[in-house]
Amino acid sequence: MPSNLMSLFDGAKLSGAVDAQNRKAMIIAAHPDDGEFGAAGTATLLTATGWAFRYLIITDGSKGSPDQNVNTDDLKALRLAEQHDAAQHLGISGVASLNHVDGELAADRILLGEIVREIRMYKPEIIFTHDPESMFSGTGWIHHSDHRVTGQMVIDAVYPAARDILNFPEHLDEGLTTHNVQTIYLWDTEKPNIHIDISDVLDRKISALLSHKSQFPNPKSFAQQSRQMWQDSDGKYREEFRRLDIWA
Ligand SMILES: [Zn+2]
Repeated sequence: MPSNLMSLFDGAKLSGAVDAQNRKAMIIAAHPDDGEFGAAGTATLLTATGWAFRYLIITDGSKGSPDQNVNTDDLKALRLAEQHDAAQHLGISGVASLNHVDGELAADRILLGEIVREIRMYKPEIIFTHDPESMFSGTGWIHHSDHRVTGQMVIDAVYPAARDILNFPEHLDEGLTTHNVQTIYLWDTEKPNIHIDISDVLDRKISALLSHKSQFPNPKSFAQQSRQMWQDSDGKYREEFRRLDIWA
């Protein structure tokens, strides 16, 4: 790992380095496979240096098939199993799903409380998630509404809900305590301020993505196209994020 990457994440907040036991990060994604597109390379680099990761998938992925005759329950089970496989490729064992209906996500108090509970349970220093400000990119790429809702709810959960004891006080009855997340990394952003060189682990990212077999029926062409499309002019591959250091 490049030394500048170590300092970037070990000094997660401006206040100083992160203790080894606190090197915990979450990837919170709307659908199975979003997290791999957004942050798989960076997660691979960080797990190799001792960071622990946990996935939280917000929806059940039940609309993610072009097959009209697919059984919804079968598709949900398949997509969650694929997410577990993808996580294993990255050295991540923890995967949870909130099982909201794919395509129908709404920003509400129930969803907020569910995400807050997960944050208070795992207590990550860092969260990777969707940039909720990305409505569309370029001249025609529209960002899924579930992505925007997820990003917004994660940010609202980090500040102030997970921090404040009077938000969702019932969590305390469950034995949980409040938590301050230090840093959020937003993928699919129009305002990147961090670029991580993932060239050394690109194959791991592609392998993780190809674990989602139901999404990529032509794995060879997907891998080939990805290597072409994602390559920067200097031959490197990068993941880019908008980094927010939380002043809380
Ligand atoms: Zn998605």
